[in-house]
Amino acid sequence: MTLARRMQQIKPSPTMAMAAQVKALSEKGIDIVDFGIGEPDFRSPDVASEAAHRAIQDGHTKYTPASGTDELKEAIIHKLKADHHLDYNKREVIVSCGAKHTLYNIAQVLFDPQDEVIIPAPYWVSYPDQVLLNDARPVFIETREEDQFLLTPSQLKKAITSRTKAIILNYPCNPTGSTYTAKQLEGLSDLLIETPLWIISDEIYEKFVYDDVVHTSIASLGGPLKKKTILVNGVSKSYAMTGWRIGYAAGNQEVIEAMGTVQSQCTSNPSSISQKAAAAALREGGSFVQTMIREFSDRRDLMVKGLNAIPGIKCPRPLGSFYVFPNVKALIGTTYNGHKIGSSLHLAAFLLEQGWVSTIPGEAFGVAGYLRLSFATSKERLMTGLQKIKEAILMLSHG
Ligand SMILES: *Cc1c(COP(=O)(O)O)cnc(C)c1O
Repeated sequence: MTLARRMQQIKPSPTMAMAAQVKALSEKGIDIVDFGIGEPDFRSPDVASEAAHRAIQDGHTKYTPASGTDELKEAIIHKLKADHHLDYNKREVIVSCGAKHTLYNIAQVLFDPQDEVIIPAPYWVSYPDQVLLNDARPVFIETREEDQFLLTPSQLKKAITSRTKAIILNYPCNPTGSTYTAKQLEGLSDLLIETPLWIISDEIYEKFVYDDVVHTSIASLGGPLKKKTILVNGVSKSYAMTGWRIGYAAGNQEVIEAMGTVQSQCTSNPSSISQKAAAAALREGGSFVQTMIREFSDRRDLMVKGLNAIPGIKCPRPLGSFYVFPNVKALIGTTYNGHKIGSSLHLAAFLLEQGWVSTIPGEAFGVAGYLRLSFATSKERLMTGLQKIKEAILMLSHG
């Protein structure tokens, strides 16, 4: 008796594995400062929680249409119009159990065996495995730190073959915090317009942009781009609603309806109660988002400054998301008690065991030599953690 072959190709999400390790240490009574967190530390907005209470009281506790309620679709359509001047109808929108599920549904309906799917690296941990789970081939393009980890048109051009089916873009990016300007997106889309590729655009961090950065969706750039793009978003990050599991996609009706068919066979609808809460958040959660972003902006400054004050760490200032992605290459090759720190993977293990801080090594995102640190934690904890990292790193010997 054996498992399917595809199970040999995939692994559990490394960020979730790190979370389990942190939990195990915490249960032993060790105080770990957790920079691994992939969700906002804010409580979900009251408007969402109240809508959920009302939903239960009013009996909205039954199946909904598989692809989501009209009420939530309307709130999504309104949001996409207000934020991006994009027009969609209800048949072009689907609600799923989190954006991760949305992305999985997309992979199910678009990918055939041997199809190539372009994924710029560093990438979010689930993209390659979702492609592999659908028997297609991830094709990685390693972006460069000196390009702010953004894909360049010439890199993209070289990667496209007759087998390329889609490209997955994520901006603002988890893990790098980089994001494309409208002009940079145009550089990519000029090329993409010429091809039969689908563009899967994961914009879940859209609201987490700082300074004067404006988020532009590639779908809004005009011409055929809207038809080629499956726009993915959700309420998990923007509204601190990770546990409610609501994500959505908007795009080509044939693709969206196919996703609805898959969903109707796999899970039926996302939670009726969560859909009520998400609709309320999208309609009335604007000021909540603003408060959260102001706080995150301050934390970002604190993190960048604190990390750059530690010898061997070089931390660019991210324009978006709630992660920093410092270069730690200067620390690779150092030793601790005779043990060599041979990679960023080792460095993260060292920081956890000796410094009691959890970080995610770049290897999890396809690039060694970096760490991802989340600033979705209070300023006090961030300061404590930065101090702990500094003390741990000062224990390393060079040469
Ligand atoms: C968190 C995250 C998601 C998934 O979010 P859900 O909780 O499933 O809605 C998708 N893409 C990226 C890049 C993420 O960081």
